[in-house]
Amino acid sequence: MKTVYLDNNATTMVAREVVEEMLPYLGEYYGNPSSMHTFGGQVAHKVAEARLKIASLLGADPEEIIITSCGTESDNTAILSALANNPSKNHIITSRVEHPAVKVLCEGLARKGYRVTFIPVDPEGRLDMDEYAASLTPDTAIVSIMWANNETGVIFPVETAARLARERGILFHTDAVQAIGKIPVNMKGNTIDMLSLSGHKLHAPKGVGVLYVRKGTKFSPFLIGGHQEKGRRGGTENVPSIIALGKACELAAANLDKENTYVRELRDRLERGLLTAIPQCKVNGTKDERLPNTLNISFEFIEGESILLLMDQFGICASSGSACTSGSLQPSHVLRAMGVPYTMAHGSVRFSLSVYNTAEDVDLVIKELPPIIEKLRVLSPYWATPQGACATA
Ligand code: PLP
Repeated sequence: MKTVYLDNNATTMVAREVVEEMLPYLGEYYGNPSSMHTFGGQVAHKVAEARLKIASLLGADPEEIIITSCGTESDNTAILSALANNPSKNHIITSRVEHPAVKVLCEGLARKGYRVTFIPVDPEGRLDMDEYAASLTPDTAIVSIMWANNETGVIFPVETAARLARERGILFHTDAVQAIGKIPVNMKGNTIDMLSLSGHKLHAPKGVGVLYVRKGTKFSPFLIGGHQEKGRRGGTENVPSIIALGKACELAAANLDKENTYVRELRDRLERGLLTAIPQCKVNGTKDERLPNTLNISFEFIEGESILLLMDQFGICASSGSACTSGSLQPSHVLRAMGVPYTMAHGSVRFSLSVYNTAEDVDLVIKELPPIIEKLRVLSPYWATPQGACATA
């Protein structure tokens, strides 16, 4: 059975060209880039080349790129560095819909005594910019707001938010893990101080990420050790993965137009097909400011997990908007922050596409999903009639 992979916000296939680029550095070129000899030097040269490619995708200078182990490390490092460099400031601003890499860290910092403001979103998933502007205070050490949401794909106006922060002398970090490679990003044209990205979301392997730190920004390392990354992150470089990330960034730059034409058309075709064929379903997240690859859709009165299990029988891979915590299914914090009713939030599924998907993939979902939904609704105690009248139970 063919796998129809529509879960690219969870992770992506490592591109063939990326595998080819990294393989020699798992094999014959195993030198340490810090070594003095030519054998290590040629590896250092290749790492420098990769750094240039990463910087180029971001419109950044290579010295502004710190290579990390993942998006989570980048997010943690940015926030903790800002706090370390502003010891007199006790306030953090973030949003209610961040990835756990920011959300859980900020919740922990709140328990340690920091004042944390979680900016709300509206029912379309858009950030409340009035509340954001009003929450910037002289004791704010750092703002950390994601560029695009991983569950709904909603894009936040982070460049405007960063400008407002800059006007008040406040550091601004963005988790751009889902944005990079999907929408254009040019760090020369904004005032964002720090930005996180993750390799495995853009067709590089898992276990490599980047923290962009704007030149002149005070920085405290998270991993303390050797002189690697100009003393900003100790630890011998993950050479094959860095080289892979460089190649993936080069491919991402070349594919950016395709993301916004080909991938967007496929996503829209899927959205239209499902909305037409299935009653009582709704898209989560504004249409206008959404990543071109993401469709989060709720099917009323059923569980997202059941939908995933039945789609799996056709080789279709997607994600649900619930997380199984301590035996009970909790609807996602993102959908709850948007005020999506429980009966809808439980039945949400996220489809996320990539340039490697085809119209055939999308058409398989449009064909197989409507009967799956119908079957599950017949079993649901809340779905009493084929017209969708809700049972009183
Ligand atoms: N931030 C966002 C928005 C994400 O979607 C993810 C991964 O799903 C992360 C951070 C964490 O990235 P990593 O898996 O590289 O730690």
